[in-house]
Amino acid sequence: TVGAVALDRAGHLAAATSTGGYNNKPAGRIGDTPIVGAGTYARDGVCAVSGTGKGEFFIRYAVGHEVASRINYLGEDLEKAAGKVIMEDLKPHNIGAGLVAVAADGSIAAPYNTDGMFRGWVTSEGQFFVATHSKVFEV
Ligand code: ASP
Repeated sequence: TVGAVALDRAGHLAAATSTGGYNNKPAGRIGDTPIVGAGTYARDGVCAVSGTGKGEFFIRYAVGHEVASRINYLGEDLEKAAGKVIMEDLKPHNIGAGLVAVAADGSIAAPYNTDGMFRGWVTSEGQFFVATHSKVFEV
């Protein structure tokens, strides 16, 4: 999976995610990546999220929307909201999971519960942030 999230100078948030799914996936499977609210989600004024990991669980927990909802309705900051979902909701299922996210305030988070997740981010003058991730995982 390769994903990206961005906050532009005008304050708009965006998320994009691409994946090949995983090896030996069932025919006809639709993963979390194209499902808005699961593996990919952005809402102006709140946050943008792109996830990687076993998609069935990202769908079950509506991960992208869950992170945004924790910020929006509980007032959590991005790091706490994203960390809760990855480390508390998903980790007990023993599936590899991680995400990159940027919030409307410009904060970024990239939690993961595996040994590693390639990730990086850039910032530039004005309000522009982007974070990306790339990870190979096997089931
Ligand atoms: N989330 C993707 C899927 O389940 C796989 C991945 O993250 O590599 O289709």
